[in-house]
Amino acid sequence: MDIYKIEKYPEKVLRANCRPVEGVTERERDVFQKMLRTMYRFDGIGLAAPQVGISEQIIVADIGEGAVVLANPRIIKKEGRDDLVEGCLSIPSAQVHVTRSYTVTVEGINDKGEYREIKVKGLLARVLQHEMDHLEGKLIIDYLPWWERVNLKMCRKHTAS
Ligand code: ZN
Repeated sequence: MDIYKIEKYPEKVLRANCRPVEGVTERERDVFQKMLRTMYRFDGIGLAAPQVGISEQIIVADIGEGAVVLANPRIIKKEGRDDLVEGCLSIPSAQVHVTRSYTVTVEGINDKGEYREIKVKGLLARVLQHEMDHLEGKLIIDYLPWWERVNLKMCRKHTAS
């Protein structure tokens, strides 16, 4: 199969802390490529490995300016604040206001196994922060005010029964 299946909330893998990648080999390169194909197929602009059932620190993104692929990404600097409504391929019904840093400097390893430091702003900075949240098991619904989270739980109980 040339693309992955997207794991949907409340699948457990979406809540796990992902382990770091030890190195970029042929296998990790395949994961990067297949994740990109999956993201493009579903019209996403970012994707994190747990969303395709892989509990490893791998993210991909493309906001129309070229693909960004990173393993073990970490924010080393952030500036400014920005608020925008976000969606997530793993929670198709959710649209959530999320406040994030406007500019971030992210370090990580690229698909050649090289150390990279990239400074990005605006939408790409937002996407990378969203994907890095996934690596810690954090989802956009966690940014909802508590009363809306209660509603969401009640809805789920209702549909599950
Ligand atoms: Zn997401």
